[in-house]
Amino acid sequence: MLSQYDVAVVGAGPGGSAAASLLARAGLRVALLDKAHFPRDKTCGDALSPRAIHVLQQLGLRSQVEGLGYHIEGVTFVAPQGRQVRAPLSPHPRYAAHALVLRRIKLDDLLRRHAIEEGAEFLGGARVQQVETLKGGVQVSFSRNGRQERLQARVAVIAVGASLPLLQKMGLLPRRVIYSYAARAYYEGVRRLDRDIQIRFDGVPLPGYGWIFPLAPGTANVGAGFYRRSRHTPLTASGALAAFLQHPPVAAMFTAAHRQGAVKGFPLRTDFHRSPVRGKRTLLVGEAAGMVNPFTGEGVDYALESGSLAAECLQACFATGDFSERALGAYERRLRGRFQRFFVLTHGLRQIYMNPWLLDPLVLACQRWPETTRLLVDVMLAYRDPAQALRPSVIWKVLRSIRPARRDAG
Ligand SMILES: Cc1cc2nc3c(=O)[nH]c(=O)nc-3n(C[C@H](O)[C@H](O)[C@H](O)COP(=O)(O)OP(=O)(O)OC[C@H]3O[C@@H](n4cnc5c(N)ncnc54)[C@H](O)[C@@H]3O)c2cc1C
Repeated sequence: MLSQYDVAVVGAGPGGSAAASLLARAGLRVALLDKAHFPRDKTCGDALSPRAIHVLQQLGLRSQVEGLGYHIEGVTFVAPQGRQVRAPLSPHPRYAAHALVLRRIKLDDLLRRHAIEEGAEFLGGARVQQVETLKGGVQVSFSRNGRQERLQARVAVIAVGASLPLLQKMGLLPRRVIYSYAARAYYEGVRRLDRDIQIRFDGVPLPGYGWIFPLAPGTANVGAGFYRRSRHTPLTASGALAAFLQHPPVAAMFTAAHRQGAVKGFPLRTDFHRSPVRGKRTLLVGEAAGMVNPFTGEGVDYALESGSLAAECLQACFATGDFSERALGAYERRLRGRFQRFFVLTHGLRQIYMNPWLLDPLVLACQRWPETTRLLVDVMLAYRDPAQALRPSVIWKVLRSIRPARRDAG
């Protein structure tokens, strides 16, 4: 006799654990499966945006993450030629005016344990190989402790992050997956860290960026990520990070620093705008639906938000007993309504602004017109429509800054 659940959630990252917590809290029988044994690390910059903090609050975890994380008050952008601009994080009626940096080994285990406390059953070390639709539900096949096992549920939530094999088997990938590549390392003894995150376009291949995210006084998560222009480019993410760390203004912060642990790289999927987000009796959440911001590389907030939206939609399906295409389609309608335009425009923004000719003028325009800095930070936090950054008045300010930016650089 196979174990029977209401919902099988595959993947216990932020997206899967958030969905599992909320579904279990609603009284549903939830299996949460992950191929890893926890606590497990996830290669990440470890930054939690104010929107991520908001969902963590709804889950009842705000005070715990505030206690564990390092408070961030602002953001500093550094252009390729070294010009910088700094701004505090924007105030917002709903979201905190700070961000947090919290190691994923802690965050993800907190979320997973919370899902268990809410009543979900966690199956660690369970590598899911297939999710098939049956009459009235799904069957999940997985290997665990060297044995083949199966379970059944009425619906599945797939939250496997940037891992492709399961989605490929299920036919739930876009025709062309859009990846960027990033690597990170932890360093202690870093000089001149403050309460800002640094997003740097100097010393990295463009389109891409380097980051320095403080985790504690003197300790930082440092990384570099980029989009490959051609599939034949020999550069690796860890190579880009090594070059970033040797870039003189960055190297000056690391003269007395030493690395903790290994350099780790991982891909990021940013193709939500063209990715499937559901199949038969199946919803995709987080990075499994390509939900990583193409400009900033953040995906934890989108994973938490889509996980909680999936839980809300599934609760409605269970309340009415309606799992039809139309009922499950409510998830896609809400997700696309909220994020589709944002992703399409942010891909455009990345293509236009993340190039060596415009980044220095953009940062100079931010220095001259502080409202441009505010707009940049608001768009980065997804508080404002990215189309505002493409308005003629903004482009005019950036173009007006081209000459002086070049002259200064020379
Ligand atoms: C270098 C780097 C830096 C980043 N920096 C940031 C940042 O600072 N802030 C931010 O918000 N985002 C950042 N991101 C993006 C962020 O890490 C992801 O978008 C986020 O983790 C997605 O959450 P998720 O729940 O969708 O998937 P994940 O967190 O990837 O979790 C997926 C889970 O599924 C499990 N799994 C996969 N396949 C299977 C299977 N077949 N069977 C069972 N289990 C399976 C995995 O073990 C994993 O636990 C970064 C990413 C990278 C690579």
